[in-house]
Order: sequence, then structure tokens, then C-alpha cells
Amino acid sequence: MNRNPKILSNDLLGLSQPEILAAIYSKIGDIPAYRGKQIYQWLHAKRARSFSEMTQLPADLRSLLDEQFTIGTISLAHRSMSEDGTIKFLFDLSDGFQIESVLIPSEMRDSKGEARRKTLCLSTQVGCPLDCKFCATASMKLKRNLTTSEILQQYFEVERLTGERITNVVYMGMGEPLLNYDNVVRSLRILTDPELDIIGSKRITVSTSGLPEEIRKFAHEKLGVKLALSLHATTDELRSKLMPINRAHPIKDLLEAMDEYYKVTGIPVTYEYILFEGLNDSDADARRLAKIARRLPSKVNVIPFHRIDFTNPVGIGAELHPATDEHFIRFNDLLRAEGVHVMVRSSSGEDIEAACGQLALSKLPHPIAIGI
Ligand code: SAH
Repeated sequence: MNRNPKILSNDLLGLSQPEILAAIYSKIGDIPAYRGKQIYQWLHAKRARSFSEMTQLPADLRSLLDEQFTIGTISLAHRSMSEDGTIKFLFDLSDGFQIESVLIPSEMRDSKGEARRKTLCLSTQVGCPLDCKFCATASMKLKRNLTTSEILQQYFEVERLTGERITNVVYMGMGEPLLNYDNVVRSLRILTDPELDIIGSKRITVSTSGLPEEIRKFAHEKLGVKLALSLHATTDELRSKLMPINRAHPIKDLLEAMDEYYKVTGIPVTYEYILFEGLNDSDADARRLAKIARRLPSKVNVIPFHRIDFTNPVGIGAELHPATDEHFIRFNDLLRAEGVHVMVRSSSGEDIEAACGQLALSKLPHPIAIGI
């Protein structure tokens, strides 16, 4: 199996303008450059789902495109709605695999009672190879990388299905974005292309479990997006138990790579930290975390641990518990007292297993389904 497809079939979605022209040249022949631009716009800005919609193009070109190419579509298999308004989408991919995306409305409301923010959480891989002990996706292992088109289609389909304008994007769904480096970067180039006016780069966060070489490379892509590191422990001993990838890339190497991200981009970084009862929630942990956070302009995103018992974890995974409310508050207060900018991640969607780290396809369809 090809675990790293660039494109599936002859999908034009997710290609840059020069790539669209090159693909068309190879199958149909030379077309003027401005036609490439029009097709790029129809695909990504106007969200055409068929070539026949591209009415600026001559009819014979439209039918040739239709014969030779496709426009990728993922289709909704199921959606669940949480009591807090979070919606989890299960999508079928063209080769039968499935992925999930989550739309999370913020608790803050505007004067009309509308959520101020609608954050879309995107998947980048079918499953994940990294085996983090607290994460439900790990139970799926890696099936394959998503193509650029499939990453973008999650955005386009969620907007189309809900009629909502997405205001923020987090690459925090299934998979490790930096292990699907090329397709993730390509999707970011399209989402943030000013000519397409889809979403601003400052409203996008990519979260990584921590691959120093890729973080350094990512720093130089000039994408202007935010980067979050899933830290979750302040000692290599504990981090290696929770996240086996830490054995290859210890904390020191990660922090140096994050230093470079900030130095090159000027964008403050985020450290994510799940609080586990009795494991990483002591005062000493808070002080070590504060020291790490103070290296650079940064914020710390403290995350409640969301249950993954539905994946039947074994070993340390079966022994993880969320920190008690008392410890949670004490930990955050200590961080703040140390001068750290702390944000507490909401647990939106926990009732439908759509919260951070709960994406896995083990238990679907869900009873709170609202249908297609
Ligand atoms: N692979 C990437 C992105 C996907 S995970 C990464 O590791 O960052 C997105 C975020 O959810 C990460 O911070 C991850 O550590 C966190 N997460 C995973 N499992 C979780 C759980 N059970 N409860 C709370 N957060 C979890």
C-alpha cells in the first residue's frame, strides 16, 4: 500500500496553479496561464464540485477536463452533535478509509448570540503511528497519510454542510501533521493564499508531538501559522513513557527546535500540557514547565485529560486519570504566579468523543447521531 499518496487518481483539488497547468498539459495540452488561474480559483475559492460549473471556461475545455480529471470529494458518513454545539463529522475517503473532523463553537457569543469563533479541527493521517499512551487515535495505528486534497476537503465540506464560516483551524485531529509534511504544507499554502481569501494564517495552529528536524524545516516555510508542541511532561523519563517518540527526540532537542521556530517566524509558540493526576501535576512540574515556557514568548495550553477507555488501553494508558479539580486549579495558579500565559483548553465535545485525543473509529455510529 502507498502510505504517502500525493494525489489520488487525477484529482486537481489541492494543486497549485503551476501544477494544475502541468497536469493539464500532460493530458490535454497547452492552455493559457490565465486559464490555470481560473481553474485554481474555481476549485479553491469558489469551491466548484464539477468542471461544468466553471462557466468562464470554454465548453470544450470543460468537457476535456471532465474526461481526464476529477475534483476530490470526501463524503459524510455520519455526524454527531454534542450538547455544547460541537459537531463531529465522520467522512468516507474514496478508497474506503474513514477520518473524523470536529467543528467547535467557542463559548464566547457575539451580540446576536452567535459563537464568536468556529474552530475546525482537521485530521492529517488515517490513524497515527506514534502510539502516545493517552490518545485514542493511537489505537488505529497508521493506515496512510491524507492527500492535500483530503485535508482541504474537510474544510470545504464542513463549511458546505453547516453553512457556517470557519474562523479558526487547528491541525489537531487524527495523525501527526509533521509526519505528513509535504501534504500538510501544501494544504496550508492553499488555505492561506491571499488570492483565495479563505482564512488568515494567524488563525491556524499546527500541533505536533515533536519532530525537531521537521519543526526547523517548517520554521522556514514562511507560512505565518502558529505552532503548538504537545509537551505533556517536563522530564524525559515521564515523557518517554507517555510518548514513545520522545526516546528518539528528547525534550532538549524539541525546545531548541521551538527556539528556532520563534527566531525565524517571530510567532510566539504554544506548549500543550495534559494534566494527569499524580503523574505530571505537582508543584515541581509546574515550576519546571514555567521555566520552559519562559525561554520564549509563549503560552501554555493546559488540557484536561479526556477519557479513552473506549479504546481499551493497556499498560500506562490504562492507569491515566484526569487531575482533580483542586490540582488543576492549583497547577494553573502556580503557572500564572510564575508569569506564564496560561490558557485552559475546553473539553467541548467530550460527550460525543470529539474532544482532543478522542478521535478513533472504534465506536461508531454514535447514539447521539443526528443523521446526514
Ligand atoms: N499529533 C499531533 C496532533 C494531534 S493531537 C500532536 O501530538 O500534537 C492534538 C492534541 O490533543 C495534542 O496536544 C494531544 O497531545 C492532545 N491529546 C491527545 N490525547 C488526548 C486526551 N486523551 N485528552 C486530552 N488531550 C489529548
